[in-house]
Amino acid sequence: MASLDRYTCEDVFRRLDAYMDRELNADDVRLLEQHLETCATCAAEHKFESRLLAGLKQKVRRIAVPSNLMDKISRLIADQPGDSGGAGGLNGPGGSRGGGAGPTN
Ligand SMILES: [Zn+2]
Repeated sequence: MASLDRYTCEDVFRRLDAYMDRELNADDVRLLEQHLETCATCAAEHKFESRLLAGLKQKVRRIAVPSNLMDKISRLIADQPGDSGGAGGLNGPGGSRGGGAGPTN
């Protein structure tokens, strides 16, 4: 009952991600490309997505994480006091400006 000789736009949209990731088998690819050739909407969508993907890849390559960044981050994490219990005892208001709440005769 399923006519597998042609993809509808929905079929293409559903498989576009897999197609771009080259996860489709040869038959699916052929059907999908056949549709792309005859459907301007899907062709435009595919063009848009592939350009997006290409742009992303370029960006990722450009901002390759410097190797010492991870080092810095892990050092920062190690420096954190963590939960050693001393919550704000160091330089809090000791009592020099007390007497705000109590009634002063
Ligand atoms: Zn289409």
